Amino acid sequence: MLIFKRINELKAHLKALKRGGKTIGFVPTMGALHAGHLSLIKESRKQTNITVCSIFVNPTQFNDRKDFLKYPITIEADTEKLERAKCDVLFLPNVEEIYPNGTAPKNAPGYGFITTTLEGEHRPGHFNGVIQVMTRLLKIVEPDKLFMGRKDYQQQLIIGQLIKKKKLKTKLVTVDTMREKDGLAMSSRNVRLDRTARKLSVEISKTLKAVKAAIRHPKSNIPQIQKWGLAKLSDFKGIEPEYFEIRNAATLKPPKSKTVKLVALTAVKIGGVRLIDNMVLN
Ligand code: AMP
Repeated sequence: MLIFKRINELKAHLKALKRGGKTIGFVPTMGALHAGHLSLIKESRKQTNITVCSIFVNPTQFNDRKDFLKYPITIEADTEKLERAKCDVLFLPNVEEIYPNGTAPKNAPGYGFITTTLEGEHRPGHFNGVIQVMTRLLKIVEPDKLFMGRKDYQQQLIIGQLIKKKKLKTKLVTVDTMREKDGLAMSSRNVRLDRTARKLSVEISKTLKAVKAAIRHPKSNIPQIQKWGLAKLSDFKGIEPEYFEIRNAATLKPPKSKTVKLVALTAVKIGGVRLIDNMVLN
């Protein structure tokens, strides 16, 4: 695996590969890699000739400075995992490389409701930062395919819109969420859960599964089930839900009926760690 820290060098390398007819797959990450990230690498290797992974803990998408400072950094272990996963290229830029003009938050207007609801509401400015860094990374790598996880459901919808808006040639491929054996969605933040919190965290996916089963019931109604899901999580001492919502899976608007595709999305705090998860329901 080749490692690049400089944009120019990465671009020159990719340009030569593209000229030789190779297709490029891109997996952007913030590191602290786990099997979920590696499933994106695997998918990219299946679908494209050259897989580029980036590790960049993007300061502009953290609305909470403490969360940014506590974000796990494990570059050495990450590099080994990527080598083993046969990733071709690792892009490892520093903050100055990505933001030569500083990290002052840029507003990303024109995305509307999809960026201001749910995560956008609870983490103000978060998606501005995500759009900012992804615009930059996509311009650098210019991949044929971009691989993102369904785990960050709202994020992949927004990046799909970014690609459309900017008329990029990149195709977005969304990959299913990898879970631990007990159902907890894999996340870099899971390493910060203590034993009690880790035990409790299983209730997130359990609740999502129960909601999925309930929605299939012909007589069930969306607001009732949504309320039930939120109440179920709130009932656990130690779980503080920020939201539990059933939404239209394409627009994230509150759905009027069960005839559209639905997704349940939740964010909770357990033992001081903020976790998100979601499940497509129908
Ligand atoms: P992150 O490093 O958290 O920014 O994540 C990098 C990419 O990995 C994003 O596209 C995430 O959606 C994806 N990802 C994170 N966790 C998982 C998971 N458990 N399963 C599949 N993809 C994931």
